Amino acid sequence: MALVTCKLCRKIFTAAGGRTCPACKKRLDDLYMKVRDFLRDNPKMEFNVDTLSTSLDADIRDVQALVDMGYLDRESTVNLSNEESSRQKLALELEKSLNEMKAAAASQAQKSTVSYGQQLYSDKSRRR
Ligand SMILES: [Zn+2]
Repeated sequence: MALVTCKLCRKIFTAAGGRTCPACKKRLDDLYMKVRDFLRDNPKMEFNVDTLSTSLDADIRDVQALVDMGYLDRESTVNLSNEESSRQKLALELEKSLNEMKAAAASQAQKSTVSYGQQLYSDKSRRR
């Protein structure tokens, strides 16, 4: 079995698949539950490692460790980034339909100019 230095408390422990010792792992698990509840209760809040550690009165390194270990990607931040990307998608679609409207208006204007020109031309030619 390999000996690993815990990346949080620098304690040397026997690796069991993680890079944090059992004590830190336990602390991170507890923190993760708190973070998850906090994010669930504050779905609209913009958060980062800084605001989370302050709001939860937790060590910023512990919060960062959760992020590093992908804990926060899996659920909370996935949901948040989904929300973010659907908002971007909506904005893109809005822009697209605006562009389509502009394009339609432009081609309409072009068409009427053309037909007006043709009419004018044919009127002239008829008069000649
Ligand atoms: Zn540790």
